[in-house]
Amino acid sequence: MLTNTPTETKGRIHSIESCGTVDGPGIRFVIFTQGCPLRCLYCHNPDCRHIEDGKEATIEELITEIQKYRSYMRFSGGGVTVTGGEPLMQPEFVTEIFKQCQALGIHTALDTSGYVPIAAAKPVLDYTDLVLLDIKSYKPDIYRTVTSVSVEPTLNFARYLSEIKQPTWVRFVLVPNLTDSVENIKELAAFVASLQNVEKLEVLPFHQMGTYKWEKLGYDYQLKETKPPSPDLIASTINIFQSYGIKVSY
Ligand code: SF4
Repeated sequence: MLTNTPTETKGRIHSIESCGTVDGPGIRFVIFTQGCPLRCLYCHNPDCRHIEDGKEATIEELITEIQKYRSYMRFSGGGVTVTGGEPLMQPEFVTEIFKQCQALGIHTALDTSGYVPIAAAKPVLDYTDLVLLDIKSYKPDIYRTVTSVSVEPTLNFARYLSEIKQPTWVRFVLVPNLTDSVENIKELAAFVASLQNVEKLEVLPFHQMGTYKWEKLGYDYQLKETKPPSPDLIASTINIFQSYGIKVSY
């Protein structure tokens, strides 16, 4: 955690994207924070792993940059999304970004795996309009294979978001022969349907777009031979979620 007084708060980021369209509603200014405790097999940002990598950013410079795009955000119903990496590894930094965005009338979205102590997340959630919660699997063994960590903290985080009625979109990456078993999807659907706060679930089809980064970093990329899901698999997955009364997009 790299922080001091609010006005001087600094964090470590990987990069920014000024006009993102896939991480929340409308056109969004997206901040990719550095550092992640998960090791997802399909990660398309493997260079975000270590917090000491990336570059330092101050709140002041980010807010100055964000304000240049306010008209795009306003007219598209967009805002600012902080993603990663895992933003909640730097909770004070994200809290301060969101606090200042909300003071400017800018919508805030937090993209997280939920693999964090709830106490650390609470101050961030005070200034978060929307959570994008990545639930990478429901079955614990598949979750661990995909991420190298336990699913329980994420499910607890999801239950907490439901308790506080935090508007949330759940995101699920559909990977053939990894996360696509009917049982896994049905159990995830039943869990999501039990929550009170989920506005929709996004099915994100696996793709190979991050492969070159794994190769460049010399990491062992185990999904080299995995193909993107077929249209039939995507359709049947969406059907399962919808059959539990969940609104789905992809
Ligand atoms: S949580 Fe996101 S950034 Fe972290 S390893 Fe998984 S896909 Fe990559």
